[in-house]
Amino acid sequence: MSINVFCRYCGQQISDVDLVCPHCHSKQHFNTPPHTNTRRNSEGVVAFVLCFFLGFIGIHRFYYGKVGTGFLMILTMGGLGIWWLVDLIRIGVGHFTDSQGNRLSLIHDH
Ligand SMILES: [Zn+2]
Repeated sequence: MSINVFCRYCGQQISDVDLVCPHCHSKQHFNTPPHTNTRRNSEGVVAFVLCFFLGFIGIHRFYYGKVGTGFLMILTMGGLGIWWLVDLIRIGVGHFTDSQGNRLSLIHDH
């Protein structure tokens, strides 16, 4: 089973078994692996569920180490629901990152 990595030249998502990027045809050198941004899909589901049920008090932000903005979310009750909704959408489309900058996603890229 292959994992998805990002081409170090064009940034497109490719498989780690691709020796040549199918998008820009650059040779890949995986013995010195690129900074992988592998999607953690299962954790994306956790984030989505946490955010859906308890997102208005920022539980998903505490869970992923974003304590500062988590407290801010409690104080503002999830930005009166708007910030909550925005986070829920960002998790759903894979634009939410944890405190280490790892992107979380529910879905695989096409
Ligand atoms: Zn490429």
